[in-house]
Amino acid sequence: MDREIIHIDMDAFYAAIEQRDNPNLKGKPVIVGGVRSRGVVCTASYEARIYGVHSAMPIKVARRLCPNGIYLPVNMEKYKEVSKELHRIFKRYSSKIEPISIDEAFLDVTGENSLIIAQNIKKDILKELQLTASVGISTNKFLAKLASDVKKPDGLTVIRKEEAVKFLKPLPVSCLWGVGPKMERELNKIGIYFIGDIQRYDIDVLISIFGKRGKEIYDFSYGIDPRPVEVHIINQSIGEEETFQEDIKSPEILINRLEFYSINLANKLVSKGYLIRTITVKVKYNDFTVETRSMTLNIPTNDEKIIFKISKQILSNKFSLDKSIRLIGLTLSNLIYPEDPIQLSMEI
Ligand SMILES: [Mg+2]
Repeated sequence: MDREIIHIDMDAFYAAIEQRDNPNLKGKPVIVGGVRSRGVVCTASYEARIYGVHSAMPIKVARRLCPNGIYLPVNMEKYKEVSKELHRIFKRYSSKIEPISIDEAFLDVTGENSLIIAQNIKKDILKELQLTASVGISTNKFLAKLASDVKKPDGLTVIRKEEAVKFLKPLPVSCLWGVGPKMERELNKIGIYFIGDIQRYDIDVLISIFGKRGKEIYDFSYGIDPRPVEVHIINQSIGEEETFQEDIKSPEILINRLEFYSINLANKLVSKGYLIRTITVKVKYNDFTVETRSMTLNIPTNDEKIIFKISKQILSNKFSLDKSIRLIGLTLSNLIYPEDPIQLSMEI
């Protein structure tokens, strides 16, 4: 039997909550992301996106693009509460839930009517939380996630197994799971720009160039993704990193990235009920040398402010910031799954 997977992604989550709670903000460009001039945008309302504002953009740049926007600090406590409510709704419909961030999750509803369930979840979210979500349905996680992206906000899209190959064909390769800017450039080099190009490519050549990843992207290009919905984190660490388009010498930009990673990674921890003890910052210099420096906390945490503060300290105390930097990364490890999940609001 085919699996039935639903991917739910809330629309402009933080900004939508702020607009819900303050009717004066409705229909206006709202940017949530800290009021510090050095902060980054966490969420922009759809009205703000029209001006080109998007998440991860420095607030300074956003202010230039959208000077009349309403800039609000991140009220994480409030968003976590809403996230809990959201997961209470999910739990009505499936016991197999894989939260992937504070506002996104996969549900495995195999054997049931996924379309009716998705409609009901959307209805419940609107009625109980006065928020909208975009939902995708398919036979695996990769396709379900793509489907939820097709129509936003307030979308509901089904990609049937037999439509997958045709659906994927015209999309850029960056839509494939795990294809970042670097892999995209490597694919472009061998003439692959669209997923259809991969479908036509010789799988053996792909494997000879990219190894295991070659087989993976070939399978993805045909809509094949065997990964199950995972209720718990399996990896022993989580992290994010980014190679800059050009070498960076500004500590401010590096700190912005760390803040952005801290928020994203803390969201993941919170949504899965994990705490971490070790924070590692990785830096690749423009001469390609790589250094990592870690700090282990006495008290485990999932608080993005603590993670950001510590990672910032590591960056400024343990790296030589007078050299140009190509890449910065943040990894959280020493994951702890507490005995008493209630304490950590495992309800979500
Ligand atoms: Mg979202």
